[in-house]
Order: sequence, then C-alpha cells, then structure tokens
Amino acid sequence: MIKLHDKVFKPYLGEEQILAAVEKVAAEIAEDYKDETPIFVGVLNGAFMFVSDFLKAYQFPCQVSFVRLSSYQGLTSTGIVETLLDVPEDIEGRSIIILEDVIDTGRTLKKLVHLFSQTNAKEFKIASLFYKPDIYNGEYTIDYVGMEIPDTFIVGYGLDYNELGRNLRAVYQLNQTTMINLVLFGKPGAGKGTQADVLKEKYNLKHISTGDVFRYNIKNGTELGTLAKSYMDNGDLVPDEVTIDMLKQEVEKNPDAAGFIFDGFPRTTAQAEALDNFLDSKDMQINATIALEAEDDILVTRLLERGKQSGRTDDQDESKIRNRFDEYNQKTAPLKDYYEKQDKFHSVNGIGEVSEISERLSQVIDKL
Ligand code: AMP
Repeated sequence: MIKLHDKVFKPYLGEEQILAAVEKVAAEIAEDYKDETPIFVGVLNGAFMFVSDFLKAYQFPCQVSFVRLSSYQGLTSTGIVETLLDVPEDIEGRSIIILEDVIDTGRTLKKLVHLFSQTNAKEFKIASLFYKPDIYNGEYTIDYVGMEIPDTFIVGYGLDYNELGRNLRAVYQLNQTTMINLVLFGKPGAGKGTQADVLKEKYNLKHISTGDVFRYNIKNGTELGTLAKSYMDNGDLVPDEVTIDMLKQEVEKNPDAAGFIFDGFPRTTAQAEALDNFLDSKDMQINATIALEAEDDILVTRLLERGKQSGRTDDQDESKIRNRFDEYNQKTAPLKDYYEKQDKFHSVNGIGEVSEISERLSQVIDKL
C-alpha cells in the first residue's frame, strides 16, 4: 500500500507486466510501420515513461515529439481538456502515431483527433498503453492497445494523482476499501446500539460499545469491571483514563477492521481529543459523528421498557436515567461543537421505525 495525498493505493500491475504490454504495442506497430519513418507523438505528462520504454522497444527508424493536454483534476475526468502545446511541425505526408498512457472516456482522444485532422499528415493512429473499454464512449477505434483495464483509478508509471505518483515503477490502484469510522452520538436510549447492529452489517464495520465492554467486564468480575461498576450503577460516567485505555485496547484487538462504529464513546471532550490523537497515530480518522435525536420523555419510556427486559439496573430507575441525561447535557453535548468545528457533525431524527432510521443514517454515510 502507498499513500498519495489523502488516498491509499494498492499494487495493481508490476514492472514486468507493464513492460510486456509496452513491448506488445511496439511489436505491433513495428509490423505495420517498419518500412517508413513514423512520427510518434507522446501525450504529456502521463505518457513520458511509456514513450521512453516504447522507444527502447521500437528499434526501427522513427521520430519523436510531444503534445501536452490535461483533463484529470483529482480522481475524475473533469471534461476540461486544454491544449498546451501544439502539433509537431513537418508532418506533411507523414504517419503520426499518438502514444497515450491511458484512454478512458475518450475526451482527450477526441481533442487529439480533432487537432490532427486539421493537419496534412498522411495517416493518424492511436496507441494507448492502458485502455478502459467499460467507460470509453468515443467513436474512434483505438488502433493499438497494451492492456485493457477495468474502470479503476490508477497511478504510477507516469500517471499521477494530483501530480504525485508519476515516478512509481509499478502501477497502483485506488484502494476503494478506505476505512469508514463513525461515532454514533445521542442520549441513552436514542437507539445507538440498535442502529449500530444494522450499520455494522451493511458497511462491514466493527462495533465498539464502551457500555457493552464495561458490562462484559462486570459480568466476568474483572478488575476493570469492579472499577466501573459503582459509577455505572449511579448513572455517572466512568473516569476518562479508564475508558480511554479500554477503548484503545478494543481498537487494537481489531487490526484488520474495515472501520469502526464507536457507540457511547467519546462522551467527554477529553475522550474526543484522545480518540483523535489515537486514530491519528494509526493514520486513521473519524469520518462522521451522527447524532440520533429524540426527546427526553420518549427516551425515559424506552429505557424503562428496556430495563424490564434486560434487567439493566441503570435502566430501571427514573432518577438514574435522568442523571445520565444530566451527564450527557453537561459533558457529552459540548462534543457537538467539537465535531462541528471539524465539519463532521450530522444529526438524524431518531424517532420512527428502526429501518426508517437506518435509512436516514445510510443517507449520511453514503455521502462520505
Ligand atoms: P451505555 O451502555 O452507553 O448507556 O453506557 C452505560 C454506562 O457505562 C454509562 O452510564 C457510563 O457509566 C458507562 N460508560 C459507557 N461509555 C462511557 C464513556 N465513554 N465514558 C464514561 N463512561 C462510560
């Protein structure tokens, strides 16, 4: 894996595979043009490595020139194709063979065809090292293709992501499974656990509920459980150091996770800062904090109902429940500002059918 700017790329084509494709193109063109002196026109910047290796593989008389066009900005073709350098001179009656690094939608190609159709060249052909047939929608057939590839964003061997990666000897592909890390936010009873169960399946995420981890430890009589119990029984927050350490350990138990749903954490500004620093040290980050909104009275009813079924003592006593709301209002609610400053705060109506609420959450997540 390599990282360029904010994106992670994984190995896709090795040097040998690329060279074999280059040599294949050179051999096919040689077959057609070895008896004349064609002009190869490399398309800058991306094709420079291809042109270099191509010429080493093409050992017959030829000339070389370059044009420069640009169409990519970031990861998608913008549709803006500018000509920066003009066509080579002395092309009257000559065979022109364009050397492109990659042909995708065909917009750049259309511009090239247009450019050269206005000249008095004898013949005009296109060779591309990589070709994405799935998204090509031009009319012009590509005359020589090194390798067909699916529609994925690639870098290396001359190709860039915002100007980085051109010097890589191999070709890398955008790693689409970039992590998604979510914080589910909301008062006790807002439905964080219920929704986390749905979202973890849908997005293949690891669900960490600090409340569940504490309850597990209490049940198993661990030292951590003993420590947390008195706080939990009263509906108070467990001290930050204890909770933060525990959370870190839970994350580290899952090095291969595709992302995490943090449920019930962070609950204080100190926890939020600790989480940011910890994730940062692992090259990870929170993508979104989503609050499930519901009124206190509805939550009290829900929690008392849940208390009857689960036996959770902190859910059976209205004064403990109200104390948890107070803890939330004082210590957790300020996190809204914390995440708003990072442009990561979203809120969702937490009243309705479970599936309706999941749908509202998905709408936020799918836009990330
Ligand atoms: P929950 O299951 O999220 O409602 O949490 C139940 C109880 O566990 C809370 O009332 C706290 O006592 C404790 N707890 C859970 N998460 C945290 C946290 N992030 N910080 C402090 N205490 C927590």
